[in-house]
Amino acid sequence: MNSNITNNRQPKINYSYGKQTISDDDIQAVVEILKSDWLTQGPTIKKFENELCSKFGSKYASVCANGTAGLHLIALSLGWNKNDIIITSPITFLASANCAIYAGAKIDFADIDSSSYTIDPNKLEDKIKLYLSQNKKVKAVVAVDYAGHPCDWEALKTLKEKYDFQLVNDFCHALGAEYKNDFQYAVKYADAVNLSFHPVKHITTGEGGAVLTNNEVLDKRIKTLRTHGMTKDESILEKNDGPWYYEMHEVGFNYRITDFQCALGICQLKKLDSFVEKRRNIAKYYDNFFSQDNRFIIPDVSVNAKHAYHLYPLQIKFDELKISKKDFFLKMKEKNILLQVHYIPVHLQPFYKKNFGFNEGDFPVAEKFYEREVSIPIYPSLNESDLNYISETILKILNEMK
Ligand SMILES: *Cc1c(COP(=O)(O)O)cnc(C)c1O
Repeated sequence: MNSNITNNRQPKINYSYGKQTISDDDIQAVVEILKSDWLTQGPTIKKFENELCSKFGSKYASVCANGTAGLHLIALSLGWNKNDIIITSPITFLASANCAIYAGAKIDFADIDSSSYTIDPNKLEDKIKLYLSQNKKVKAVVAVDYAGHPCDWEALKTLKEKYDFQLVNDFCHALGAEYKNDFQYAVKYADAVNLSFHPVKHITTGEGGAVLTNNEVLDKRIKTLRTHGMTKDESILEKNDGPWYYEMHEVGFNYRITDFQCALGICQLKKLDSFVEKRRNIAKYYDNFFSQDNRFIIPDVSVNAKHAYHLYPLQIKFDELKISKKDFFLKMKEKNILLQVHYIPVHLQPFYKKNFGFNEGDFPVAEKFYEREVSIPIYPSLNESDLNYISETILKILNEMK
C-alpha cells in the first residue's frame, strides 16, 4: 500500500511526468569514488564507457557532460558546416535541432508518422527530393526514437543508402527499447547515437550523456573535441617535445563528466532492465485504462518495436471535446499531478520561425499531435494506487469540464 495516499484522499506528494530512482547502492557507489584519488579524468570514466559498449553493442562510447554536449560533439565530428542541411523531427527536444545551429548548419524538419510519432520516412524522402530538385544535398538526419518508440530504422537506412546522408539516432528516450527483437539496434543503423542521463531519463548521472558509435575515426574526434581539442596521438603530432607534450589541431570544449557521476551511471545501468520493465507495466495499466474510452488515443506500438516508455504520451481529444487543454492542466495541478507536453513543435519556436521562416501549418501531423498530447506520470517508483489515483483524476476532471 502506498504511504502517500490514504483512503483515496489527495496525496501530499506531487506527481511529475518523470523522476529518478536512486537507492542506497547508488549512493554507496558515488561515496566510494568521492573517497578515491580521482574525482574526474580517472579510471571510472573508461569503466562506464566499457559498460555502455557491452550493454548497447557498440565498439566505442564517449561519456560527456550531458546529452546536448553529446549532440554538439556529434555535429562537429561529423563535419557539419555552414550551408549543410540537417533534418530532424519537429516533435523532439530543442537540442536535436540546436546541434545543427551550433555547427553553423541549416535545420529543416520532416513531419512525424501519426501512429509512431517518429519521423515519417515518406515525408523525409519528399523533403530530400525537394532539395535535390534545387541541386542541394541533405547532409544528415537526426532521427529521434520519440518517447521510447524506435523509428522505422529499416526505411531510414534504405534512404541513407539511396541519398547518402549521415544518420544520427537521438536515442535519449529509448534506452531499453527493441527494434526487430534487437536491444542493440541503435548503433547498427545510425552513424552516431546520443544518450542523456538527465534525472527524467531511464538512468541518471545527474547531468550526463554519451555518444556511441562503431566508427573509430568518429570516436577519436569526439574524444578530442570533448577536452579542448587536445591530442597526444603520436600519429598526428607535428613534433613531440616530451611526455608532457600535446597539440591542438582544432578547437574543442570541456564537455567532460566526473568519475563520481560515472560511478552512479555504472550502478544505474545495472538496473536499466528492471526500470524499463516497471515502465512497461505502468504503460500496460494506462493502456488498459484509457483504451476503453474514445476520448483518448493511447500510444501505438508498431509490430517491429518494443517500447521503452521514457514518456507515456496520451492524446486527449480536447478539440472534439471542446475542453481547454490549459484549464485541464491547471485543474490537474490542483490535484498535485504535474503534467507536461512533449513537445512544442520545434519549428514553431520564435528562433526557428524568425531565422528559417517556418510557420504554423508547415508540419500538420506534429501540430495536431501537440494540441492533443499530454505526458502523464511514468517512472519506476509509481505503484498501483498511484496509477489509480492519476487515471481516475484525469477522468474525473474531464467529466467535470464537460
Ligand atoms: C534529454 C534530451 C536531450 C538533451 O539531453 P540533456 O542531457 O538534457 O542535455 C536531447 N534530445 C532529447 C530527445 C532528449 O530527450
